Amino acid sequence: MGFENRFYSQAENELNEIVIKNRRIHENREKEIYEKYSDISSINNALISTSGKLLTLIADKNGDISARLRELESENISLQAELKSSLKKHGFPEDYLEPVYSCHICNDKGTVNGKRCECFMNMVRKAAAADLNRTSPLSLCTFDDFDLSYYDDTEVTKIGTTARKIMEKNLSFCKNYAENFHLPYNSVLIRGRTGLGKTHLSLSIASEVLAKGYSVIYGSAPDFFRRVEKEHFGAHTDTDTLEMLIKTDLLVLDDLGAEFESKFYCSVLYNIINDRLNASLPTVISTNLELSEIETRYGERIYSRIATMDKPIFVGSDVRALKKRRQQ
Ligand SMILES: [Zn+2]
Repeated sequence: MGFENRFYSQAENELNEIVIKNRRIHENREKEIYEKYSDISSINNALISTSGKLLTLIADKNGDISARLRELESENISLQAELKSSLKKHGFPEDYLEPVYSCHICNDKGTVNGKRCECFMNMVRKAAAADLNRTSPLSLCTFDDFDLSYYDDTEVTKIGTTARKIMEKNLSFCKNYAENFHLPYNSVLIRGRTGLGKTHLSLSIASEVLAKGYSVIYGSAPDFFRRVEKEHFGAHTDTDTLEMLIKTDLLVLDDLGAEFESKFYCSVLYNIINDRLNASLPTVISTNLELSEIETRYGERIYSRIATMDKPIFVGSDVRALKKRRQQ
């Protein structure tokens, strides 16, 4: 899977910052111990001097050094044990004076055995996803500013409940979905007419899952399809959008059905949905289409996969028109 060079550079910068931050934490810990705990620091100093002695000994090529080496080794082991127990005695973790690393696979080097470490590739993926997400108004959408008062609270006799009550349930469904997000996870199809808050709630899910540290890509289906089409039919780029849409932890595909109808888009959608379902990666799709319209438009293969998703239905009157009226 390819990424543009700028995302690798962004990841390099991020890794550098992590190294600097961790070095500072380590230095501050040493300073704290040296200033306040003379017993611990004297053991630590003794430990450092055994390493010095070891180096001198190895450099000394005269005579048999094996006995002296064994001696130093056991001195080192007992000092280490002493250091751990005195740290513990003062209420610190045993490894408090060890170098600090965020990734214990590569020790923050970004590579293992000449290959990029997974921690580094995650940073590259996140940088590429952030770039893809930059046009969506994520910061404007949270669960807290979803206003239920826009939904009618008079009971509709036919269904025995109100639009507001249904939307209250949908809001808590979406909130729970985001709060309990984990992998693998189930997918969701949010359905309902235009202007009922589908985009607001699906972006709120994206925002909360992103804050939990998962990789999230969100945006409108027409935009993504156009991008994939461009990459597929010419425009040279190192970034493989389709692959990113398939591999991200959570994909939020807004406004499915707003793209114009094309066989190519259908096959892109099938690839995305099918590959993600097979990998148990969740997708949140929002659409104005009825289920029967989905079947007619995208065909049985896509429909049968979408049919397995949870399907909250959004109801009410166009909230955008009401909002406008209230603002006037
Ligand atoms: Zn790593």
